[in-house]
Amino acid sequence: MSDPPSIPQVEPWLGEEEAIAASKVIATNWISEGPNCAAFSERLRDLIGTPYGVFAPNGTLALALALMALGLGPGDEVLIPDITFIGSANAAIMVGATPIFVDVDSNTYQISLSHADALITPRTRAIMPVHLYGTACDMEAVQAFAMRHALKIVEDAAQGIGVFYRERHVGSFGDAGCFSFFSDKTVTTGEGGYVACRDPGLHEHLRFLRNQGRQNAGSFVHPMIGYNFRITDVQAAIGLVQLSKLDKIIARKREIHAWYQQDLAELSGVRILAAAPNSTVVPFRCVLLAPRAHELMTFLSQRGVQSRSIFYPMHRQPCFAKWFDDKPYAPSLRDDDYPNAVAGYEHGLCLPVFPTLRRDQVAYIVQQIIEFYDRGTP
Ligand SMILES: *Cc1c(COP(=O)(O)O)cnc(C)c1O
Repeated sequence: MSDPPSIPQVEPWLGEEEAIAASKVIATNWISEGPNCAAFSERLRDLIGTPYGVFAPNGTLALALALMALGLGPGDEVLIPDITFIGSANAAIMVGATPIFVDVDSNTYQISLSHADALITPRTRAIMPVHLYGTACDMEAVQAFAMRHALKIVEDAAQGIGVFYRERHVGSFGDAGCFSFFSDKTVTTGEGGYVACRDPGLHEHLRFLRNQGRQNAGSFVHPMIGYNFRITDVQAAIGLVQLSKLDKIIARKREIHAWYQQDLAELSGVRILAAAPNSTVVPFRCVLLAPRAHELMTFLSQRGVQSRSIFYPMHRQPCFAKWFDDKPYAPSLRDDDYPNAVAGYEHGLCLPVFPTLRRDQVAYIVQQIIEFYDRGTP
């Protein structure tokens, strides 16, 4: 038998154009924030549809910066879905706030507002809807919920570039919308993040916080405490090229997603996570909800296909069990309080959808999945 192929979970789509753009920046002898950052930011604002935005070194720090600029800190609680990448929760901890985990919807796996409702305390100050796996949370409902409880909204749109909810780009609904340009995201600059916002005062605050508490470089008089959240112009030059390919990237991802749907249509008992209501989808991964998902992942790995589980529920994270052990306020860490998140973790697995994935590779992956179920219980 020939060696099985080796299909990774993700692969960025970089080429000659990105290489040329990066070397052009180096040739100018100015690689710190400069004209490419200004241009990339302008394009991002056009796409997202907010008048303002600032860069951060990565998505996690974009979230932390947004929370900080909104005044979130010790004693404040932030509602965060139990199923997300841990960076969402760690950003809250980084600013001294308490992440309160919220179960997810059993159909969309996005934050469940009915569960959130039961978790409101006098300390609840913000909600962080996460647009998970490339489709949007129900932002109309989130906005109504936030209004009712006087909460700030920080959208975690790290996986949401190109995703629209009721014709509006995600990240434009909340007080702040945060994005990531890590290498597995739809648009990548290696590392990188962005905070989009509508309020000029918040924008001003974000600018001071990210640049050592001053408006512009060159002055050593600092009216405020601030930090360094800057990026480089090389990253922005790469980002500009990536954004110019966005339509192609999205089309490829959707095409690949459709291949999976087509090839798996006959297989009973499995479901592919679809676009949430009123939202488009730019598949971040192909999320398959299937019986014996973890066994299937092992089987796929033996066949040369890298799959991943759905994100491990926050309430089960060993780091949080330790962290909340001696804290006065803490989220519940009991499985019983997060039935949908637990079911999602048990049944969900992520299949690759990166733009360079080929038709024959998807056919191969699906063939392995079908074979796994045909074999039945080992
Ligand atoms: C990637 C990601 C982050 C963190 O972004 P980084 O750039 O890796 O720090 C946060 N939340 C979600 C949902 C993500 O997918």
